[in-house]
Amino acid sequence: MFDTHLVKPGTAVRLAEMPTEASGFHDDRDTARDEFRELRAELADLQYNLYAEGRRKLLVVLQAMDAGGKDGTIRKVFERVNPQGVRVTSFKVPSAEELAHDFLWRIHKATPANGMIGVFNRSHYEDVLVVRVDRIVPEEIWRPRYAMINEFERLLTASGTTVLKFFLHISLDEQKQRFQDRLDEPSKRWKFSRGDLDKRRQWPDYMAVYEDALSHCSTEQAPWWVIPADQKWYRNLAIARILVGTLRRMELDFPDPEEGLDEIRIE
Ligand code: AMP
Ligand code: MG
Repeated sequence: MFDTHLVKPGTAVRLAEMPTEASGFHDDRDTARDEFRELRAELADLQYNLYAEGRRKLLVVLQAMDAGGKDGTIRKVFERVNPQGVRVTSFKVPSAEELAHDFLWRIHKATPANGMIGVFNRSHYEDVLVVRVDRIVPEEIWRPRYAMINEFERLLTASGTTVLKFFLHISLDEQKQRFQDRLDEPSKRWKFSRGDLDKRRQWPDYMAVYEDALSHCSTEQAPWWVIPADQKWYRNLAIARILVGTLRRMELDFPDPEEGLDEIRIE
């Protein structure tokens, strides 16, 4: 379950050789949907338990090219979870205040507290992705960031956070299709921006910087998975499996109740 699509720490990632299409388990979408629904319900129970235990937290990092499915993943995978237990943070172009600080400042503030699931829609990785492609800072600034990110994530895990990172891997063709849908469907037009086409033209540059980030920053404590994401049903199932499997392994416990509750009689 965990090894499928995992970037083994220390390996050099070649995205062109990694599948964007359903692969690994369940080629059949009906079986996949059934399993996904069960996992989604279990995720809700596990989140309740994580919250009740109140000693640990989970951080889910999502990265993808435009139209890669970050929003859809959040909507579908967390559909059943109590909204009080999940906090989603979307990282946009940094504000002036954010730019006046180090690149992890805004990120650290958004990390989950005890009992919570934090979801990052984009993340600190933008600071070694778009920042490199658009040459926003020079190499002597971005180069050391890989090590800083690894140390930062080590700090989080040492403080009781389980960190899971997913790159939603779509093909250039699938992106074209999804952009076209956004143009054709009036209710989706708002999602389209001309800037997305510039980024599409820079696709090879993005693949190269993603490969560096995935290669340098998939660690034992905070691994990356490259999820085939051309089919939404497969993407959702693959991620739900890893989330549920991870929470199961945490062997969550309910805190001990107060003593003597059996004797209580409510008048
Ligand atoms: P969207 O996810 O479509 O709302 O777009 C958010 C935009 O913010 C994307 O184009 C990102 O590349 C950009 N962005 C996010 N973080 C950073 C960052 N640290 N530096 C520059 N641009 C960023
Ligand atoms: Mg966008």
